[in-house]
Amino acid sequence: MCKRIEDVIADELLALTDGIQTLGFETMRRRQRKKREAGSLNYKAWRYAVFTRDKFTCQLCGAKLPADKLEAHHIKPFSVAPELEHMVSNGLALCHECHVKTDSYGGRGHFKEKGEKTV
Ligand SMILES: [Zn+2]
Repeated sequence: MCKRIEDVIADELLALTDGIQTLGFETMRRRQRKKREAGSLNYKAWRYAVFTRDKFTCQLCGAKLPADKLEAHHIKPFSVAPELEHMVSNGLALCHECHVKTDSYGGRGHFKEKGEKTV
């Protein structure tokens, strides 16, 4: 059975727009993934640099811990100073127990005023 030319064109157009949409979506997803990967890579590097500077020791209780047991604390939280997010000087190696006691743990620093001292 022969297709009518309108149907052929419609099919072609549909395939074409599908392709464009898929490409657009894929490109978007790829860009988002790259951004996320770059962000997490920066974060990992920052975290490791903080641990190295602090000699893998919790800066509050003095516990010496491996990297997977240590946490990198932002002295000035991201919500207050996003430009310091990956600055080693804004990081502090803490054990989990000490980290949860900080003012800004888990986004609590969100409500702090700019410049207010946080541990
Ligand atoms: Zn500690």
